[in-house]
Amino acid sequence: MNPLLDFSGLPRYSEIRPEHVSPAIDQLLADNRALIERLMNVEPTWDAFVAPLEDANEQLSRAWGQVSHLHSVLDSPELREAYNANLPKITQYYAELGQHEGLFRQYKALAAAPEFAGLTPARQKIVDNELRDFRLGGAELPEAEKPRFMKLQEELAALSAKFEENLLDATNAWSKFIEDEAELAGLPDDAKAMFREMAEADSALANMPGWKLNLQAPSFQPVLQYCSNRSLREEMYRAYTTRASEFGPDNLDNTSLITRILELRQEAARMLGFDSYAQVSLEPKMAESPAQVLDFLGELATRAKPYAERDMAELREFAAQELDLPDLQAWDIALASEKLRQARYAFSENEVRQYFQEPKVLAGLFRVIETLYGLAIHPDQAPLWHDDVQFYAINDQAGRLVGQFYLDLHARDSKRGGAWMDDAITRRLTHSGIQTPVAYLNCNFARPVGGKPALLSHDDVITLFHEFGHGLHHLLTRVEDLGVSGISGVEWDAVELPSQFMENFCWEWEVVEHMTAHVDTGAPLPKHLFDKMLAAKNFQAGMQTVRQIEFSLFDMHLHFDLAAGQTALGLLNEIRRQVAVVIPPDYNRFPNNFSHIFAGGYAAGYYSYKWAEVLSADAYSLFEEEAGSHVGGVLNPEVGHRFWSEILAQGGSRPALESFKAFRGREPTIDALLRHNGMA
Ligand SMILES: [Zn+2]
Repeated sequence: MNPLLDFSGLPRYSEIRPEHVSPAIDQLLADNRALIERLMNVEPTWDAFVAPLEDANEQLSRAWGQVSHLHSVLDSPELREAYNANLPKITQYYAELGQHEGLFRQYKALAAAPEFAGLTPARQKIVDNELRDFRLGGAELPEAEKPRFMKLQEELAALSAKFEENLLDATNAWSKFIEDEAELAGLPDDAKAMFREMAEADSALANMPGWKLNLQAPSFQPVLQYCSNRSLREEMYRAYTTRASEFGPDNLDNTSLITRILELRQEAARMLGFDSYAQVSLEPKMAESPAQVLDFLGELATRAKPYAERDMAELREFAAQELDLPDLQAWDIALASEKLRQARYAFSENEVRQYFQEPKVLAGLFRVIETLYGLAIHPDQAPLWHDDVQFYAINDQAGRLVGQFYLDLHARDSKRGGAWMDDAITRRLTHSGIQTPVAYLNCNFARPVGGKPALLSHDDVITLFHEFGHGLHHLLTRVEDLGVSGISGVEWDAVELPSQFMENFCWEWEVVEHMTAHVDTGAPLPKHLFDKMLAAKNFQAGMQTVRQIEFSLFDMHLHFDLAAGQTALGLLNEIRRQVAVVIPPDYNRFPNNFSHIFAGGYAAGYYSYKWAEVLSADAYSLFEEEAGSHVGGVLNPEVGHRFWSEILAQGGSRPALESFKAFRGREPTIDALLRHNGMA
């Protein structure tokens, strides 16, 4: 039997082969399409219509989830081929579902039927979400307008793809060959070694002694941050900030694409009955209106700007006195900041790392979870895809299984970069009882070497806690219906609440103390070193905050109330005059490379980063407030249980704001975020 078609338990990773992929996916797609045809003729009740559709789509997503998981963590030419051969079929299937008029009709009939009032709030929410997504996809447009709407979507997709391609091509179009090592003064040896390798990889330069630079981040960033050659920094800064603009080749200029994308988004929004694209973007989000987002950003800007100005004044003074840079320019900021940081908070990342042994860190993380939620985490058995993977179970106090997770921590050639959480199995009630959830937690930490445990940087530890926050959101849900269980159906601008929340524990002495042991001596991290880390935590937080606000305001105004005749660049310059402390040179063409909003999914959504941070900081502040009255400090099980039942357990079954208020007892405020960033 094809292991991808076995849904009776955990994925059978030791048996799945690339040749299983196409037969399984083809069969599931055919079965699902046949089912959908049958569902057109059933009573539109939950049991007759939604339940079988959910079952069928769950099977497809579990099977494809295993394939795409393997593609991410154990890639091979054969698997990649199977993955790429099936991806278009999957994409096509979901596009069909999103535009299926018969399904839309059945959901509408269910929402209008007397039965609807008797459904649980979670099920009502699932039906409402479906109807909303159909509407935003154009399903309610008059027949005569649908072709135009479809055409807008296609053209927008093509323009976004072109925007990204232009940016990539423009980035790759620039390079520079350096023959005199003195021009690279100040750069770390590993950066220079990389530039030398880049020269050797270039057939035109391979036999010449020298270094090749380009505009990709691993090349651009170290030059701006470390290289004392000011004219090289300026040259690269100019090349970088004018990519895909009128200063380069016409065919790579994104300026007209920006105008066109904004026009088409506005037209699509009007067809759907909205005044602006920003309103369309906010429909499925937690924020209620563009005005609310703008108020939020405005308040944050007012509070952060004095700190940003202070950061900038300190930087100018330091640059003038210590670096002989009295006229600090945009291309000096990263370098001067790095030197100031070193002068102020001298401690070595490498020194810190010696204390964060991976097994000890994991034990410390589990201790936090076990204490807060009264749970027990222990090793468990499952078929695995690699020797390096660990598998654990979580049990409650009564010994009942709550969930399980895979932990795949180390980088390897066959694994994509970064860190992420994914769902393997989602909690739900089935005819045979509760299906317990299973999560994948993936990181790319350095593996153990020389018989010693792997060592993590403090940033790695924060990443691990962050991903575990997403994992707990998935694993500790108490929802019984798939569509809003765990992270499913959670608003985009609230989904980072549980993950950013967990990061806070990495800055608590009572947590860190218990998860450190020097790799040679076994001694815990010294308190004085931890204090230095804390002091450095908020370095230039004011400057960083106003920069995020600048991008967020630009994105929101652009999609909400861009004045007739106003260009994107004109708008950005106006916003910079209001909130920025670093005013870049006139030639800077940031909009032309802002792919988050023109090619990614962040249009009128860039504010989400700060929005979710407010929620997570404010939620955490209840643990801080209650810490004094509890011997365990912030590890307070009473507050922990409340966080579990009001936020983690609820998943997408009710609006995130309701969950937040039920936990915190009030609306969110920005005070905790400002305090955590040293701006109170
Ligand atoms: Zn995250």
